[in-house]
Amino acid sequence: MSHPRDVIVIGLGGMGSAAACHLAARGHRVLGLERFGPAHNRGSSHGGSRMIRQSYFEDPGYVPLLLRSYDLFAKLERDTGRSIANLCGGVMVGRQDSQAVAGSLRSARQWDLSHEMLDAAEVRRRFPTLTPADDEVALYEERAGFVRPEATVTAHVQLAQRAGAELRFEEPVTRWEVLPGGRGVRVHTSDDVYTAGHLVVCPGAWAPRLLADLGVGFAVERQVMYWFHPLGGTAAFTPEHHPVYIWEDADGAQFYGFPAIEGPEGGVKAAFFRKGSLCDPETIDRTVSEAEAAAMAAHLRTRVPELPGRLRKAVTCMYTTTPDEHFVLARHPEHPDAVTVACGFSGHGFKFVPVVGEILADLALDGTTEHPIDLFDPLREPLKAPHRQFATPEGETTP
Ligand SMILES: Cc1cc2nc3c(=O)[nH]c(=O)nc-3n(C[C@H](O)[C@H](O)[C@H](O)COP(=O)(O)OP(=O)(O)OC[C@H]3O[C@@H](n4cnc5c(N)ncnc54)[C@H](O)[C@@H]3O)c2cc1C
Repeated sequence: MSHPRDVIVIGLGGMGSAAACHLAARGHRVLGLERFGPAHNRGSSHGGSRMIRQSYFEDPGYVPLLLRSYDLFAKLERDTGRSIANLCGGVMVGRQDSQAVAGSLRSARQWDLSHEMLDAAEVRRRFPTLTPADDEVALYEERAGFVRPEATVTAHVQLAQRAGAELRFEEPVTRWEVLPGGRGVRVHTSDDVYTAGHLVVCPGAWAPRLLADLGVGFAVERQVMYWFHPLGGTAAFTPEHHPVYIWEDADGAQFYGFPAIEGPEGGVKAAFFRKGSLCDPETIDRTVSEAEAAAMAAHLRTRVPELPGRLRKAVTCMYTTTPDEHFVLARHPEHPDAVTVACGFSGHGFKFVPVVGEILADLALDGTTEHPIDLFDPLREPLKAPHRQFATPEGETTP
């Protein structure tokens, strides 16, 4: 059966906008459907900055994807003339055996990535705003830094449209189905019904709704980003002087932060990495309590003492976490001919956005990709296990 469109992409956030861009660039007829506007702030791809790094402590298997992602971020900047990435350098701080330090070192060694090991005194000397304890060390990576999420999404949207993709915003998908015999898909929205040869689903925190039949136990988590006015102003925090950082405590809890990239009045961002509470994207509480902000400030006070001056703002965001915190990126096991899925990015997906777009185009068009994605198999054993984390309604995450 021939369809008016080759591929429909559901969700035009980080991953879906990149998929639409790569599919359209390869000359295919693409329809993209998004429930909100372009580069909106109600999903997982907003907040001004996302960390990028290559010495990946989560698993060395991500490194080849990161190398490609860096190239594609640079290409995105060239193709659109937008400023998206800033490689200001980054430190992973913690005890020698922490995941942040030991895991990063493992990836750096395995892939021969440029890095330096710094003891606590050296960290304090080079980055005086950071005050690690004497038993803490850091892996410094020159090529770590940050990308701008809203600019990334806007750039992909712009390139997709330039290549002929039809992108429809403010048009939520209500359901999708595979046509008899697996010969394409039908997608129902608030406004219309569309058919296409193939479907790519990139639903972010709406994965439990749109991809329930994957059978993956996603935990959708409310996370908070905080911006503080540093006590002594932003001068010591500018990207010329200040790295991005992830800092792991002795109990395994991590927090992270960025340089001052919003100008002198914009505040400096920091957040806890995985300290979230379970939520639903339809009902998430987007107000941040004083107690939450006070807990963040207290945590920063002993480690980045200059940072928690006055709170400028606090904004919520969502992680969609899988039981093993690795992504789900594959042809849909139940509908391998008709549907490709990208979800469960578990709070660390943004640095992969461009390469995921490329992989989704490969999978949708060819059913296979040369990129290493075995780690993201939806049928892997750990996805059947219960979650490592259990979040209480009060917002405290217990192991
Ligand atoms: C606070 C925070 C900090 C983070 N920090 C980092 C970081 O430093 N580095 C990093 O690499 N990653 C980071 N991440 C993770 C990263 O941002 C996410 O993994 C990534 O943005 C996920 O992209 P996505 O496309 O899956 O989701 P989204 O960008 O949310 O896109 C999903 C889209 O689907 C749309 N949609 C859903 N349902 C429907 C429907 N029925 N019809 C139409 N459209 C629909 C949504 O509106 C949304 O636009 C962070 C995330 C958060 C929340």
